[in-house]
Amino acid sequence: MPKADPSDPGDRAQFGRPPTRSAESKSSTERPRPVDNAPVVRRAHGGLTIEGYSRAAVQTYWRIPELKIGFDLGAQPWDFMGTPTWFVTHPHLDHMAALPVYVARRRMMRMEPPTIYLPAAVVEDVRRLLLIMQRLDRGRMVCHLKGVSPGDEIDLSREHVATVFATAHTVPSVGFVIWERRHKLKLEYHGLPGDRIRDLRLSGVAVTSEVRTPLVAYTGDTSPAGLDGYPPVYQAKILITEMSFIRPNHRREKIHKFGHMHLDDFIERADRFHNEVIICAHYSTRYHSQEVQRYVVSRLPPTLRHRVWVWV
Ligand SMILES: [Zn+2]
Ligand SMILES: [Zn+2]
Repeated sequence: MPKADPSDPGDRAQFGRPPTRSAESKSSTERPRPVDNAPVVRRAHGGLTIEGYSRAAVQTYWRIPELKIGFDLGAQPWDFMGTPTWFVTHPHLDHMAALPVYVARRRMMRMEPPTIYLPAAVVEDVRRLLLIMQRLDRGRMVCHLKGVSPGDEIDLSREHVATVFATAHTVPSVGFVIWERRHKLKLEYHGLPGDRIRDLRLSGVAVTSEVRTPLVAYTGDTSPAGLDGYPPVYQAKILITEMSFIRPNHRREKIHKFGHMHLDDFIERADRFHNEVIICAHYSTRYHSQEVQRYVVSRLPPTLRHRVWVWV
């Protein structure tokens, strides 16, 4: 394991504060980042810190330090390299350009080879890309590339498991849900003394059953089909998704055809979101940050307004 693990949120997490861009952060509790090469917005909910930044056609990256995982590698803030497991949704450059950079940095810093999950259809090309970078950069590219398809399950730890679901974009793409799993005593054994339960367990009886709670859903780029096709997306405590377009003058059929979503798609689905927090990001570069913030909040119905975090 790395000596200094930047994936540890330590005292940098800003619980209960509005999103802060790292470059603007002046909090006395926040350790200054040694290198500030890419913007990071940081906010916490329910014991999880969400760190990331996402603009369409520019760069997208997220991580959740408590789970030691990240989503997408469109760029790689220097202190994200300590996170050992990444889920890449699709091979567009704004989601994957920093994959070789990340793999090379970990090796340079003598960290364990990382594990990167990505759509099965692109694994071989990414492997080839790494080999070419290895030849050009003259540094070995060591990592575990794992192709995944909708329906797959990935064991992360005893407490956490990831599932893969289909999204709808213009290139092979998938989304991910991270679940917490607990082993609870089955109803029929409630009330039994502890030593009796222990004896049953030792005799091979399955006295517990697994109960799963969806913690985080991440869609990457998708048309609304990516939300609608997998119910846990609407149930996860935290949903991280895209809202590339907001102004009414954009034609929605065209937006959907290119595998993206519009603010109106969210308004139409207001009743379906059971998430505690809905992070909307990946706004088009044609919008200024303040415009996005003001306009989206003014258009959202009250049921969504207090749960949507406009991440820009
Ligand atoms: Zn994108
Ligand atoms: Zn894309």
